[in-house]
Amino acid sequence: MDFSLSKEMRDIKQAAREFAEGEFRDIAHECDVEEKFPRKVFKKAAELGFVGVFIDEEYGGAGLGFLEHALITEEFWRVDPGLGQQFVSIPFGAEVLMLYGTEEQKRKYLPLIPAGDAIMGFAITEPDAGSDAGAGTTSAVLDGDEWVINGSKVMIGNGSSADFMLVFCVTDPDSEKKSRRHSVILVETDRKGYEADQMHGKMGLRASDTSSIYFTDLRVPKENLIGERGRGFSQLMNFFDRSRAWVGSQGVGLAQGAMEMAIEHVKGREQFGRPIASFQVTQFKIAEMATKIELARTLVYRACWMVDNGKLETAIVAMSKWNAGRMAVEVVDEALQLHGGYGYFNDQPIERFYRAAKVLEIYEGTKEVEKIIIGRSVLGR
Ligand SMILES: Cc1cc2nc3c(=O)[nH]c(=O)nc-3n(C[C@H](O)[C@H](O)[C@H](O)COP(=O)(O)OP(=O)(O)OC[C@H]3O[C@@H](n4cnc5c(N)ncnc54)[C@H](O)[C@@H]3O)c2cc1C
Repeated sequence: MDFSLSKEMRDIKQAAREFAEGEFRDIAHECDVEEKFPRKVFKKAAELGFVGVFIDEEYGGAGLGFLEHALITEEFWRVDPGLGQQFVSIPFGAEVLMLYGTEEQKRKYLPLIPAGDAIMGFAITEPDAGSDAGAGTTSAVLDGDEWVINGSKVMIGNGSSADFMLVFCVTDPDSEKKSRRHSVILVETDRKGYEADQMHGKMGLRASDTSSIYFTDLRVPKENLIGERGRGFSQLMNFFDRSRAWVGSQGVGLAQGAMEMAIEHVKGREQFGRPIASFQVTQFKIAEMATKIELARTLVYRACWMVDNGKLETAIVAMSKWNAGRMAVEVVDEALQLHGGYGYFNDQPIERFYRAAKVLEIYEGTKEVEKIIIGRSVLGR
């Protein structure tokens, strides 16, 4: 058993840290307030090889794993969760293309992502279908050689900025099994009938694009179907088994960044004639934060390693994601507490981190959904 990262992994992590320090820190506040992200920084991130590292080399990626993607995610989120989210979600859904796309689809679309020539997304959630993704009603009807798509999606990452989007659609409404009614269809966003509205007023991750999408008689060639018709639900579950593994690293990075800010503050701030870092209560808080982060990091790395090494276990992935989200919410709460009233103002980055953390218990499967998965597995049901 060897728990250490390889030299290549440590180098990637260090390079991601330097990139985020250099490119995110100075613009993070402005991007949060103005709800925007700079496209030129995205291009630079791609040129330096940080985008979609898990995509196979034959499709233009680095051919690395989800663990390497998690290391980059951790370092980006450590500096700024909003910009971090935007940049690590550029390949969101590529896992599905890699697993189920035809050779032609993979050659056409995947190389655009690591090259920085395209942004993608995966549109699943609908106004009346969130945790219950299988209740989604956006429909795709085959008309000759084309799918005709109608419906709407909500809270979709990259909805307004993506060049193409994977869309979870009902193609077989009469199937007896709910799990055999949906398919995943690739939609280029410049097609007639695609409309997106960026959703403003997000609590956190405001630099990242989250949008509503509307499909009105949108037509795509029937070849845009990903994988087998009617197998969208099982493709979605297999996607979550991979994406949730690395999403946990968002919580690890956020908490690490928050703890570092708290440490800097308590060393500099004096009360009762001494630095607040010298109070044992403060030291206990930092000790608890550091331990929680290290535990979450270990489980996230393990989950990613298992996925990368063909040992995927859905329950371990769910544990790592749920635990990292909960841990991040707890750690950032104490980190802000240590800033006192100053942490309550938005000229302190800890305020931005505090707002960002909550989403980690909501998206990519709420904490309740993760616990349902874990419970079923542990109880053998
Ligand atoms: C910033 C952001 C980005 C997002 N990006 C994307 C994206 O790129 N693509 C996409 O498709 N979606 C995206 N989402 C949507 C996200 O995945 C959903 O918000 C999430 O799945 C929860 O669905 P919901 O909001 O409809 O909540 P609901 O499903 O309505 O849940 C509300 C509450 O009820 C609980 N609940 C629901 N069912 C059960 C149950 N069976 N047992 C116990 N409790 C239950 C939930 O845990 C939750 O606490 C994003 C959301 C946000 C906030």
